[in-house]
Amino acid sequence: MEFETVIGLEVHAQLLTETKIFCNCSTKFGGAPNSHACPVCLGMPGVLPVLNKKVVEFAMKMALATNCLINKSCSYARKNYFYPDLPKGYQISQYAYPLAEHGHVFLDVDGVQKKIGITRIHMEEDAGKLIHDEHNPFSYVDLNRTGVPLIEIVSEPDMRSPEEAADYLKRLHEILVYLEICDGNMEEGSFRCDANVSIRPRGQKEFGTRAELKNMNSFRNVQRALEYEVKRQQYLVENGGKVVQETRLWDDAQSVTNSMRSKEEAHDYRYFPDPDLVPVIVDDTWVEKIAKELPELPLAKRERFVKDYQIPAYDAGVLTVDKALAGYFEDVVKLCSSPKAASNWVMGDVLKFLNEEKRDIRNCPISATALAEMICLIEDGTISGKMAKDIVEEMYKTGKDPKAIIAEKGMVQITDEGALSIAIQKIMDANPNQLKDYRGGKDKLFGFFVGQVMKATQGKANPQLVNDLLKKMLAG
Ligand code: ADP
Ligand code: MG
Ligand code: ZN
Repeated sequence: MEFETVIGLEVHAQLLTETKIFCNCSTKFGGAPNSHACPVCLGMPGVLPVLNKKVVEFAMKMALATNCLINKSCSYARKNYFYPDLPKGYQISQYAYPLAEHGHVFLDVDGVQKKIGITRIHMEEDAGKLIHDEHNPFSYVDLNRTGVPLIEIVSEPDMRSPEEAADYLKRLHEILVYLEICDGNMEEGSFRCDANVSIRPRGQKEFGTRAELKNMNSFRNVQRALEYEVKRQQYLVENGGKVVQETRLWDDAQSVTNSMRSKEEAHDYRYFPDPDLVPVIVDDTWVEKIAKELPELPLAKRERFVKDYQIPAYDAGVLTVDKALAGYFEDVVKLCSSPKAASNWVMGDVLKFLNEEKRDIRNCPISATALAEMICLIEDGTISGKMAKDIVEEMYKTGKDPKAIIAEKGMVQITDEGALSIAIQKIMDANPNQLKDYRGGKDKLFGFFVGQVMKATQGKANPQLVNDLLKKMLAG
């Protein structure tokens, strides 16, 4: 039997507000345990939550960026469950009346734009953290994360492969980071994903029973966990078994998913409207104000790069993954006339150096101005492309500009015909046998002479000129 995979993702993104969603505690990651926790965070009796307006505005940005409709009014609900990292005994979330619905993003699937629906985006508070120490018979509770604002982005079950799911996740991540509303750090958990996956016989209309996967902390692991899970479900069904609705944890070390608990249903949470919080009214003026604050988004930037700079879609994709990288590229292009050369240097050498050191483009030792200057020096023939390779490496190591490096190393390209002709003549005189053989028809020896000239000039000779002169002089 042939199966089709169905995937829907629930993504949680921590918002980069200074303070928490319902109190004034700091949202900073990594403080001493419980140093960012007040009576509201602790769920003390009698305290009242006060909504942080910035949270609503950040959530609205994501809603607009993903083509959602923002509801005129939304409200908060209590999602009840007991766990030691949740002192109130309930999480404040949105349920019946979320902030935004009916959105979508586009994926590039084999060159075709595929639309992935976004069911809803709502705001909620994060829970605290439990720290289990194997040397102690007890666990620690750290409530610094309690009340850190989250948005949950729920997709439609529109993805049809683990690869598509990973791609969708990258698109959301990219948008959140472009909007500067989430730092996107998957390892620290500021961007998390639960993946729902089921299979069905190809052609069947009804969805199969899904499993929900948790505990993947990288794009790669989301994809790997899904790939494993699809295989597990297929094997199960092919052998007469049945998929049960449950939550499964990805075990990275073993590369498997394990059952954690049978899946709870919404009614298990006894949702009800939070009586401490009034509904949020979002009028058109507010939406318009936020819409004006949106930056150019990755997809639009990609399309503009292809159109305005005439670079391949592939290049545009690489260059726009990071807003700062895209900005760097544009700064280079403004100062040199060749966008494709700029793209090649940025995607090639610059990104290679940065990746080797896991360094951010914001801290790149080569300024956009310096790189542009170097590209101009290649174009006006001062240096060859080969020399530029060495120069750009030196620029990265020392932060110096290309002209300083060229002067220091005496790297200027030899473009003087007279000087080169003399050097070539010397080489011809020193290698009479090779010269005879070449003239006798051994064309391959041309390379030998090029090599000799380059050696004699320490690689500084202009390659095109060497070629032209050699052809003429060797012919006799
Ligand atoms: P819950 O919050 O209980 O996990 P939701 O109804 O919010 O449930 O759905 C969660 C996610 O599961 C959504 O992203 C949805 O697209 C996805 N989903 C729902 N049914 C299926 C299915 N049969 N197979 C794969 N994904 C599914
Ligand atoms: Mg879920
Ligand atoms: Zn607090």
